[in-house]
Amino acid sequence: MTDPLANAAGPGAPPVAPHPRLRPDGLAERLAALAGRVAISSGSEPPDPVVSPLDGSPLGAVPRCGIDDVGRAAAAARIVQEDWSRRAWAERAEPFLRFHDLLLERQDEILDIIQLETAKARKHAFEEVADAAIVARHYAHHGEEILAPRRRKGALPGLTTAWEYRHPKGVVGLIAPWNYPLSLSVSDAIPALLAGNAVLVKPDRQTPFTALWAFALLAEAGLPAGLVQMVTGAGSELGPALVAACDYLSFTGSTATGRRVARQAGERLLGCSLELGGKNPMLVLPDADLDAAVEGAVRGAFSNSGQLCISIERIYVHDELFRQFTDRFVCRTRGLRLGVSLDYESDMGGLASADQLAKVDAHVRDAVAEGAEVRCGGRARPDLAPFYYEPTILTGVTPAMALYAEETFGPVVSLYPYASLHDAIERANASQYGLNASIWTADLDLAMRVATRLECGTVNVNEAYAAAWASVDSPMGGFKDSGLGRRHGVEGMLKFTEAQTVAVQRGLPIGAPPGVADELFSRAMSQALRVLNRVPGLR
Ligand code: NAD
Repeated sequence: MTDPLANAAGPGAPPVAPHPRLRPDGLAERLAALAGRVAISSGSEPPDPVVSPLDGSPLGAVPRCGIDDVGRAAAAARIVQEDWSRRAWAERAEPFLRFHDLLLERQDEILDIIQLETAKARKHAFEEVADAAIVARHYAHHGEEILAPRRRKGALPGLTTAWEYRHPKGVVGLIAPWNYPLSLSVSDAIPALLAGNAVLVKPDRQTPFTALWAFALLAEAGLPAGLVQMVTGAGSELGPALVAACDYLSFTGSTATGRRVARQAGERLLGCSLELGGKNPMLVLPDADLDAAVEGAVRGAFSNSGQLCISIERIYVHDELFRQFTDRFVCRTRGLRLGVSLDYESDMGGLASADQLAKVDAHVRDAVAEGAEVRCGGRARPDLAPFYYEPTILTGVTPAMALYAEETFGPVVSLYPYASLHDAIERANASQYGLNASIWTADLDLAMRVATRLECGTVNVNEAYAAAWASVDSPMGGFKDSGLGRRHGVEGMLKFTEAQTVAVQRGLPIGAPPGVADELFSRAMSQALRVLNRVPGLR
């Protein structure tokens, strides 16, 4: 194997000149203007350079915020939030509908930035644009209904009337990772903002410009100035400050960091949602359409070079199909085009950083040393770009190997034959994670029965990940160590609110009225409760 880090710019390495094809006209000026949107007042620290993993050369720099900046940004957001939360729904929804159209119209600008910050292929960057548009459309059209006050059953029919109201939390903190820097910043912010909150965003250090561009576009679409605040810098420094300054925290990232954030939030009794890691299984049943399953496996395992929390890392194929599936999957994967260009010419891009490359390489080396067979790929491609790694298929993976159970978060997938469906389900569930699963079969009744036995927050039938991800009317999140709480659906908006019940009591109180003995009241109440339990419509 080649040294995967041979061409990777490490600390102290001489700066690499940007490739002219990879720097659209005027980009440097546009990025510098975006950096000016970061909420910083001191500016004593040297700025944080952002280096493109596409060519290892500098893209620009953003301010390195300090803890005080977080507190100030939250206070500034809070002032704007008061007015925002009182606005009529139509006035709140309008900027998001405009954002939807602007985003689709100006997608090339952000596709370039996403590719430059992450090294992903353009078609995988487009998934983020589609996601942000879908989420904006969904919540702008349906958010009013989700948030509307609801009449609830009162304690005593005819005597008690109850209403459920939803109030914004205030300032929502949002910590986002680098792998889907548009989706996982702006798409999560949309329901929070529409619910009447301000948002304080901390993007990953590697991908601040994507988030800055997205929120600048929202401002252009009419979102009030100051309602979204951005801080940039190290997560380990700014994270605790966000926990201290915000009224709710939405975190997406690794399970290890998620646990840390949850501990800090617990100290403050701060509500938080945690969208964390996965080791997602795919099950190919004997009656599956093999061509479709192979295509699904390619997309599931290699979209964004496998750096997708819901990507497929384990594939269980029925014995009858195993050899045929493996041959076709390997053949199709060998044909994938790896490229470095700001267009749709490549099927897969690179890994996002030297750390990612080192982890993927270590997982594959360890598996090979323990006896796994590399069916295709298995090597870095520094000849293409610093952190490229070939799409890799392994067989013969055993529990002794690190990648058997650990999340690789790279373009590496293991194939396992199975004899009985029961066994496949057990093995799919034998993981600390429970984020996404995929099932391939022509029998949709069977698919539903299998799906509901899988311990995963989303299950895609005859699709790898996108059907559940894009069905934003439905909740998405993880069982087990894959997280807490959900994005999308009703939960994905209501989590950014406080529930309040207002109940009105008429006529008799729920307690002994004056002059009635407590014992008599208790007997009468017991009788009333019996009636309530028996009469349909009163239950
Ligand atoms: P990470 O946990 O290292 O970083 C995520 C974010 O947390 C970054 O913005 C980082 O700056 C910040 N951070 C780092 N230390 C922090 C701290 N002590 N306190 C607060 N914030 C801190 O994750 P990563 O490696 O960058 O992202 C990849 C991981 O994210 C993978 O495990 C992947 O599965 C997961 N992920 C999950 C989802 C999901 O929706 N479930 C989506 C994307 C990625």
